[in-house]
Amino acid sequence: MKKLFILMAALLCLGAYSGGAQAASLTDMQEKQNQLNAKRETVQSGVLAADKKIESLQSQQKTVIQQLEALELKMRETVEKVAEKEKQIQDKNLRISELNNEIAQLQEQIAKREELLKQRARAMQENGANVDYLEVLLGAENFGDFLERVSAVSTLMQADRDIIHEQETDKSKLETAEEQVKKELGSLQSMLTELKSLQEEQVEQKAGKDRLMKELQEQEHETSLHKMDLKEEEELLAAQSAAVQKAIDLEKSRLAELEAARKRAAEEEMKGFSAGSAPRPIISRGTFTTPANGILSSNFGQRGSERHMGVDIANAGANVPVVAAADGVVSRSYLSSSYGNVIFITHSIDGKIYTTVYAHLKERLAGTGQVVAKGQQLGIMGNTGQSTGQHLHFELHNGQWNAGKTNAVNPIGIVPF
Ligand SMILES: [Zn+2]
Repeated sequence: MKKLFILMAALLCLGAYSGGAQAASLTDMQEKQNQLNAKRETVQSGVLAADKKIESLQSQQKTVIQQLEALELKMRETVEKVAEKEKQIQDKNLRISELNNEIAQLQEQIAKREELLKQRARAMQENGANVDYLEVLLGAENFGDFLERVSAVSTLMQADRDIIHEQETDKSKLETAEEQVKKELGSLQSMLTELKSLQEEQVEQKAGKDRLMKELQEQEHETSLHKMDLKEEEELLAAQSAAVQKAIDLEKSRLAELEAARKRAAEEEMKGFSAGSAPRPIISRGTFTTPANGILSSNFGQRGSERHMGVDIANAGANVPVVAAADGVVSRSYLSSSYGNVIFITHSIDGKIYTTVYAHLKERLAGTGQVVAKGQQLGIMGNTGQSTGQHLHFELHNGQWNAGKTNAVNPIGIVPF
């Protein structure tokens, strides 16, 4: 859709300059071309700036991606560390409960043995000696044996006490060990807390980087859209510039042709009378000059039942020259059934279009598309088409000629006769 618009704009632009013979002056068009080129430069530098911005945004995104990758690696490490600490804490808790069990068992054994010793002590106090020990002592066969048995009893009692002592020592060792494990557990738990806060920090960091990334991507998208708009504008300006350049070239060649035509017209005027020809009209100073020498035989306006949309200039001379009333381009040169041999000239005067018509010519000397100068000979006065007697039928139209001749104006007062 936009492409079509550009094409149409270019065509319209081209049309505006080349359609009229002189719709815009060369200076105007060159000024317009300069403006277009200046605008193109601005737009082109805008495109370059957009490119630079996109490049910078992309490199920023690259950096953020690298940072995100590094952060994600760290986050995975933290997750692993958290899991490791949690496992270690679990192990420590297990160890503590094991130790607690062992301590409880020892405690129970110690309590039982102490109870046994207490019972023995009570029995010895009540009976003067422990029954068991007494039985052992009373079973002695002689004094030597007795002494041996006394010593054995005391050894047994000492052994009981030693066992209790060992068990107490073991219990205290276990309690120390438990103390140590609890300390380690405490340090593990504080490490875990630190890791968890690190993890939170990393999650926040990642969210921040993700937001930044999204922002950079959005900016890049917007800049790309802006760049596309600028590129389209640049295309439009380039098309306009090409159209104006074409119009300038056309205008230059038209001006060159006109210059050549003027030279020829001046040369022809200098000759004045050609052999066998009637005198050519003197070229007047204004925009228009008289198209032929002769008498005004019919005026513009109502003529009996018909409306006469031009003026007639009659001259019975031989080979009466008919010249262009003003600078212009021959828009048509042909043989018409009513106009006879006829030439149409389109003029652009101060940006306005006029059309002049030269009818009933005996001979046409200018072709369609030819650039003609004011006073340049177009043909020879004649009596072709619907005509009675040799004369020039001359029309002036304010704008383009049309079949209804609605633009026709009275040339008297505009064109000198
Ligand atoms: Zn007429």
